[in-house]
Amino acid sequence: MRTDGTSPTGTPPIPLHRPYLAGAELSYISQAITSGCIRGDGPFTRRCAALLEQKFGIAKVLMTPSCTAALELAAMLCDLGPGDEVILPSYTFVSTANAVVRLGAKPVFVEIRADTLNLDESRIEAALTPRTRAIFPVHYGGISCEMGQIMELANAHGLKVVEDAAQAVDATYRGRALGSIGHLGAYSFHETKNLVSGEGGALCCNAPELIERAEILRDKGTNRAKFFRGEVDKYTWVDVGSSAIPSEIVCAFLYAQLEAMDAIKARRHAIDIRYREGLSDLEAAGRLRLPAIPEGCDSPFHTVYLMLESGAIRDALMAYLRERGVMATFHFVPLHASPMGRRLGYREGDLPLTEDLAARLLRLPTFFDLSEVEQSRVIDLVASFFAQRSPTSKRRGLSLACVDL
Ligand SMILES: *Cc1c(COP(=O)(O)O)cnc(C)c1O
Repeated sequence: MRTDGTSPTGTPPIPLHRPYLAGAELSYISQAITSGCIRGDGPFTRRCAALLEQKFGIAKVLMTPSCTAALELAAMLCDLGPGDEVILPSYTFVSTANAVVRLGAKPVFVEIRADTLNLDESRIEAALTPRTRAIFPVHYGGISCEMGQIMELANAHGLKVVEDAAQAVDATYRGRALGSIGHLGAYSFHETKNLVSGEGGALCCNAPELIERAEILRDKGTNRAKFFRGEVDKYTWVDVGSSAIPSEIVCAFLYAQLEAMDAIKARRHAIDIRYREGLSDLEAAGRLRLPAIPEGCDSPFHTVYLMLESGAIRDALMAYLRERGVMATFHFVPLHASPMGRRLGYREGDLPLTEDLAARLLRLPTFFDLSEVEQSRVIDLVASFFAQRSPTSKRRGLSLACVDL
């Protein structure tokens, strides 16, 4: 990449994400200001929560400043503490594991499936111990984990399920919204996600018995929510707590995005289709694989990634694209192999499948106003990268990548 931000051809670089306005964001923000309420839990916060509850069939949605904050509340609601264990994938963002670790509980990392990069449901049972308290499945790219089997297993063993649905807003599993299936779920509205407010999130409370305590933990350990509803005549300190309430300015921005949810998804779907068409020859030739969408899963089209034959090819393609102004990137250095993972007793080599898949993945720019010209440039560059490399003789076979390794 040149330091002036242009590619060698002089065209501006294509970022992985770009902020955009979907509709009434700015007028809602000024409405919040003129109405005299910019703190949290005002009209826009309530509208966002109500829209999510209705659209996704969630008993109670509590807006939060981030998905990280929602996961932290969820971990507290699971009553996690020292000695407790939680099953989760290592292939996830740090927040899923931090929520567990900060309460003194132990993250038990389980391998992922090669087709979806989600927690491998068939390996959960073997990881259970008498100390297991919860499962935190992560819906990678918004494609659902096998929630039927996960909920069955959890119910059989009395475990709580917290869905990390950060990437899975507006996605379904067998017709049910992701985030609405586990006891609790967590959404993200971070700049990099599908529906955004810069930073933002929501806690989905599906288990009715957890709602009251969730409201208290989120609001400094007080019963202020009950007070606002007129259920108590003054509010007071009743439990531990924090402040996990976003401001009205953030929720005003977000509400406009939520109203435009269908249009945003349709646009992302079109981008997804175009990548699949444009890269279908390379996929058929076994040189890359595009994200799998299993039966029963409805995608929110959060990300388009390429699964490549080897880490070396991934690194070479990423460098090739970046030199030409396309900011393709990878993410999730497996948590067990991170410095913190090692402090928790894990080592590189503990989860070979996770490590292999993470090293071969490359994400392509996918955002609402990615233009057709820009997308064509990305597709053409991927094609020209492969055109100048002959296929590897001993192909480990990307068709194989879906089934075994
Ligand atoms: C983005 C993300 C988070 C964190 O979301 P924030 O809103 O930035 O806190 C957590 N988990 C996963 C899987 C994510 O992709």
